[in-house]
Amino acid sequence: MKVGILGAGQLARMIALAGYPLGLEFIFLDPSADACANHLGEHLHGDYNNLDLLAQLADRADVVTYEFENVPAEVAGFLATHTQVHPSPKALAVAQDRLTEKNFFNDIGIATPAYAAVNSLADLQAVMAGIGYPAILKSRTQGYDGKGQSVLKSADDLASAWHTLDGVPAIVEAFVPFQREVSVIAARNVNGDIVYYPLSENLHRGGILRVSECTTDDPMQTQAQTYVTRLLEALDYVGVLALELFEVDGRLIANEFAPRVHNSGHWTIEGAETSQFENHLRAILGLPLGATTAVGKAAMVNFIGGLPETGSILGIPGVHLHLYGKEPRKGRKVAHATIRTLTDATLGELTQKIATIANQVDDS
Ligand code: AMP
Repeated sequence: MKVGILGAGQLARMIALAGYPLGLEFIFLDPSADACANHLGEHLHGDYNNLDLLAQLADRADVVTYEFENVPAEVAGFLATHTQVHPSPKALAVAQDRLTEKNFFNDIGIATPAYAAVNSLADLQAVMAGIGYPAILKSRTQGYDGKGQSVLKSADDLASAWHTLDGVPAIVEAFVPFQREVSVIAARNVNGDIVYYPLSENLHRGGILRVSECTTDDPMQTQAQTYVTRLLEALDYVGVLALELFEVDGRLIANEFAPRVHNSGHWTIEGAETSQFENHLRAILGLPLGATTAVGKAAMVNFIGGLPETGSILGIPGVHLHLYGKEPRKGRKVAHATIRTLTDATLGELTQKIATIANQVDDS
């Protein structure tokens, strides 16, 4: 079987690495000549809207998936008329527009922060009375890792925040005074079977994920599973999906979902019975899903902008290093480490140690 992937970055790379033991082959479409998954399969080099390359991808792959959600809707639609595409173009369309996504959450009973669409400075000024301060202005599309976002602390911030966005359609949302950020990662296969990983507790800085920790018996697990089940079923979703949530006063409020494998689930490679990458492949290939049970206490630390010295990380028992084969560059995710131990105390201690090393090489 050959799996086609739109994008050949680290997520595609980790999907391919999980697929090798299952005898799978891979073909990637990516505009970058040195994308980090390229040498794990065939590489079609060109733009995502190159119809000739898309046709080749559809022709040569038994199923096509993607590693990011900002695939033009027409591209996913074109592929879906030629081959099996999972997740569906509909899931992509909902995830890639923050307004459509928030409307969708509300339609299926998933709580969100208060929000409003904004198409002009006058709109923004008008809706702020209802939203209140602080708030966050976000571009509706193309935003990730906190890009295209401004915090609004008072009416004095509105004009500059609006101009920073360069006139693109936006959404403003109330700032949630959360106690924790968590994500629930789930996989649904073509038969409608669903498996859920233990919640990840996530720490962001500057809008970028820094550390994720696998929780044990999290009090919010059931509510998160209820939400993600609604989402998976409403979208008739196939594959892995990550739903990012804020916890505030014992309630969960949805931030966004990613229709793909997710950075907050990287700990599953060593920390779960079956990794999110393998389960994504199982789901899209119509195979039985694997157990998602944690195999100890696990956490993940991202390396952003700079790499640690390999030996210094590998010398720490219980720590696994994943280098993505990418040149370090400001703000770029270049590696992660998984920490897997038996007790909360050692997990906390080692995670702190690795996070300190990550901060030292971090230039973001
Ligand atoms: P996003 O790109 O929407 O996932 O936002 C990146 C990060 O910014 C989130 O993980 C939060 O830490 C923070 N953030 C985004 N939206 C809100 C919000 N409405 N209230 C509080 N923090 C937020």
